[in-house]
Amino acid sequence: MTSEAPIELAELARRRVDELSGVGPKKAIALGSVGVETVLDLLTYYPRRYLDRTREARIADVVVGQEVMVLAQVGRVDHRRTRNRRDLVTAQLSDGSGKLRATFFNQPWRERQLKPGTEAVFYGKVDRYRGALQMTNPVVDLIGDRTGRIVPVYPQSEKAGLSTWEVSAWVAEALRRCAKRGFAEPLPRTVLDRFDLVGRGPAFRHIHEPGSMADAHQARRRLVFDELLRVQLALILRKRLLESSTRGIRHRAGSGAAGTAGLIDAFHARLPFPLTAAQNRVIAEIEADLVQPVPMHRLLQGDVGSGKTVVAVSAMLVAVQGGHQGALMAPTEVLAEQHYEGIRQLVDGLTVESTQNLFGERDLRVEIFTSRVSGKERARLYEDLADGEIDLAVGTHALIQEEVAFRSLGVVVVDEQHRFGVEQRAALRDKGAGGVVPDVLVMTATPIPRTAAMTVYGDLDVSVLDELPPGRTPVDTVWARSTDDTVDVWRKVRSEVGAGHQAFVVCPLIEESEKLQVASAEDTYAELVDGELAGLRVGLLHGRVTPAEKEVVMGLFREGGLDVLVATTVIEVGVDVPNATVMVVLDADRFGMAQLHQLRGRVGRSGHRSACYLLGDGTNPDAEARLSALVKTADGFELAEIDLDIRGEGTIMGDRQKGRNDLKLASLRRDREWVGRAREVAIELVGRGRGLDRHAELKREIGLFLGEEDADYLLKS
Ligand code: ADP
Ligand code: MG
Repeated sequence: MTSEAPIELAELARRRVDELSGVGPKKAIALGSVGVETVLDLLTYYPRRYLDRTREARIADVVVGQEVMVLAQVGRVDHRRTRNRRDLVTAQLSDGSGKLRATFFNQPWRERQLKPGTEAVFYGKVDRYRGALQMTNPVVDLIGDRTGRIVPVYPQSEKAGLSTWEVSAWVAEALRRCAKRGFAEPLPRTVLDRFDLVGRGPAFRHIHEPGSMADAHQARRRLVFDELLRVQLALILRKRLLESSTRGIRHRAGSGAAGTAGLIDAFHARLPFPLTAAQNRVIAEIEADLVQPVPMHRLLQGDVGSGKTVVAVSAMLVAVQGGHQGALMAPTEVLAEQHYEGIRQLVDGLTVESTQNLFGERDLRVEIFTSRVSGKERARLYEDLADGEIDLAVGTHALIQEEVAFRSLGVVVVDEQHRFGVEQRAALRDKGAGGVVPDVLVMTATPIPRTAAMTVYGDLDVSVLDELPPGRTPVDTVWARSTDDTVDVWRKVRSEVGAGHQAFVVCPLIEESEKLQVASAEDTYAELVDGELAGLRVGLLHGRVTPAEKEVVMGLFREGGLDVLVATTVIEVGVDVPNATVMVVLDADRFGMAQLHQLRGRVGRSGHRSACYLLGDGTNPDAEARLSALVKTADGFELAEIDLDIRGEGTIMGDRQKGRNDLKLASLRRDREWVGRAREVAIELVGRGRGLDRHAELKREIGLFLGEEDADYLLKS
């Protein structure tokens, strides 16, 4: 690369920020503390907002009760202690059109920050206090004496000693130094045209120094696209690499296949219900993957009760039909047992070909592998699994232990529930015989928004079960906020029990430790048995109950020997007791949305009307939003979208995106439609082959943002 060539990001990533004049050792440390070490970091340290001097609200125009932003000069500042010993700092603000008071509680340092004469931007809700306009705890951005119509405001750090105007000046210098050579443009012209994107040079310039807000928006769009494209490219590369480097089994779907011909047909014919259209569609999608030589890597999303189990069993039976085996891995023992019971019932009566048997066939065999199965029995199961005598293996991570060998593992279903990692899936995949990789179906019962799925699970193909089987009664969801409401709830529980139904009571969630959680469950149980639920048959289930006890309690509840099951979230997944028609969640405001939705899915599993009562106050606005949403809709995907709005993407990205934290500007909420566009372009650019060889610049750039290991894995091959 000659030094005249346009600048690539990789080059900027090699330039330390203290090469800029004005960044001395002290400021370099300050920048380091906010993650800015290189010039690239600095250029991607984006303004958090802009002060648009052409549109700013004048104090004379502010409306009481509304959120506004004003640029004002600080006048007198007072600092005193309130009667309940809180620090109270007040600052008189004026802008020539009027006066306003800013009031800060518990922020004594504001006195130092807001020197009389300082100009600053204040954001907040305006109210009227004793006749005067006031903002309480507004957000304050000092802007220095900067001119210009649009002033970028950078995230500033009082602690690190960074001011927005300093950052602005360094960014300006960096941009000036880049101006001569200009920025390299890694995107093909056709892509820029298709989405009407500005070039990278103008994008970096205008995000930092916009001439108008329209410029800033254009710039943001381009940079958002770049971020999303890099993530998608990495995911698509990973996907292609998996496809090209692994050898799978070409399963035969449909009837008349070798092995046990017609097993799938027999399975579907014996179901006590017709498949929903969504189930048929998804089964077809899976079968289309299974017949390919490339191993399947597919995510199955479906709301609680959408009938994922039947789909999973269909997939595994395609393997069995061809003489291979299927495995289903669940995250907990309770769930593995539920799956085991459910699957056994579903496949009851099916037979497979057998060479060991005079009649040439035997019953299809399902076994469970958990830590509970021990000693001799376990050894025998392992042997049978290795001999191919077991067709379907259901279990926890016990299934991925070293000593477990399959004769020929064909299809793996991982019931993920957000609890398994990529590594565990890989471990199960490695159980294929002779280097052959089994097909993998990952199931999740926690719907995630489409854009998030594309980002978090973007290396998988996605199928969605978006239809519930008929005959499920919608669950009435009631948020009981007051003591009176709560009294009604327990009355309702007793009356349902009186009518021969059953109820779940979910204990308050204590995340700090399992021990505390167990103690709280025991307390709750004791209180209820002596109080609200006196006289009823009540059982208790929590994480420390031994498997044997658990079995007894669950068995009793299932058979109707208990009226109420008090439990922790161990019942969140899989528990299927159709006669249970009431669920009470205590301190519901502590639970996450997805968790509450899962819990609610435990009722409404029969023709009877069911109800879910959420107890708890909504003093926290997020909790209020969550609980209201649950009352309003039963659609898991809609709830997932709302949840994304409430919590932001951080939580969704979680562990999966570790080391790939390149989304500085892009928001999976705001930029929903751009996720899809980025994916479309990533697929085009990677092409049919498996690399980015025709886009060397982009390739180098992705390397920059991937962790080292990932980069080695994806780019060097
Ligand atoms: P999920 O795992 O998606 O929450 P399940 O597979 O456990 O859902 O199915 C929920 C219930 O619906 C089960 O009792 C199952 O037997 C039943 N079911 C599944 N598919 C259908 C269908 N097509 N018609 C009627 N009932 C169905
Ligand atoms: Mg299920």
